[in-house]
Amino acid sequence: MVGLAVLYGYYGLPCDSHISCELLLRHPYGPAWKRAMLKNISKNALLSEQLICFRGEDILYMRSESLGTRVFHIVFFDYDYSAYIHFFDCNFKCRGCLRKLSIWDCHLPDEVTSKLTFKGFLSLRDLEDIILRVVSEYHMKKAVLGGGEPTTDPSLIEVLRMLKRLNLDIVVLTNAYRVNEDLLKEFVDPKVIVIVSIKSIDPTRHEMYTGFPLEPVLNNLARMYSSGTRLLVETIVIPGFNDANEVGLLAKFIASIDRSIPLIIDSFIPVPGAPWRRTTLNDLREAEETALRYLENVYGRGKAISEGMRGRVYLIYPQLE
Ligand code: SF4
Repeated sequence: MVGLAVLYGYYGLPCDSHISCELLLRHPYGPAWKRAMLKNISKNALLSEQLICFRGEDILYMRSESLGTRVFHIVFFDYDYSAYIHFFDCNFKCRGCLRKLSIWDCHLPDEVTSKLTFKGFLSLRDLEDIILRVVSEYHMKKAVLGGGEPTTDPSLIEVLRMLKRLNLDIVVLTNAYRVNEDLLKEFVDPKVIVIVSIKSIDPTRHEMYTGFPLEPVLNNLARMYSSGTRLLVETIVIPGFNDANEVGLLAKFIASIDRSIPLIIDSFIPVPGAPWRRTTLNDLREAEETALRYLENVYGRGKAISEGMRGRVYLIYPQLE
């Protein structure tokens, strides 16, 4: 059972998440034989990038291209040649989550989102085909993984490997609540930037806003930094909840790790059920100035957004009928 736990832990895949598996071995001598084989099989699986799973007494493997992802939506931005890949699930329940307004990318015009319907999740192979088309038609250079929370997708490691094979720059937007060792290894790559979103540096407020404790997020931030992951931190100025003072405390915490880690400051957009008002340019300026006391690099992305969107946004998936 130890071997099983290790394998499931490695890939984070429950057996029923596989779309199609092929028989690798049917063991003739019972569970002891199966346990004895596990170590070698897992080693081979790692080498060939196949995923191993178990169904009853059978040991099966799944070709990575038949793996199902939780990607349900993709848009392309021509100003920086990036495709934003939306993952469906999230482990947090943020009070100010933009998804309360719409699951579709907020940069698409209303006349497009009002006609969009959910067409299901992409398999890894379909995702790769779509990305290849965007590379060839739109000259895509960068993949931004967000949503939703990419780390909740059991296929994230495979998605990252596929994007790396295509030599794309990769940005992963995450709440960093769960980052296992294997994912951490994938993050340590010159092509990958991880942006950790921290909604509040105050543990009580963080839990009140997201429904989850802050400690694992900060621990994972420190782990990723120590491992050599290219890191940025992102926060939102939420008037009356995460103001300039709190952003300053977050900046001070980041500086205790490394003053050169950049901080992105976003503005809050009111959503149903959240009592806070929209962030003003003054709120952003104040937060930016406070953060700059501690950090070398602070970007007021909220300010840039209020100046209007750069370039054009294209709907890639799902297509309108
Ligand atoms: S982490 Fe992001 S996607 Fe998840 S609930 Fe919070 S705001 Fe929404």
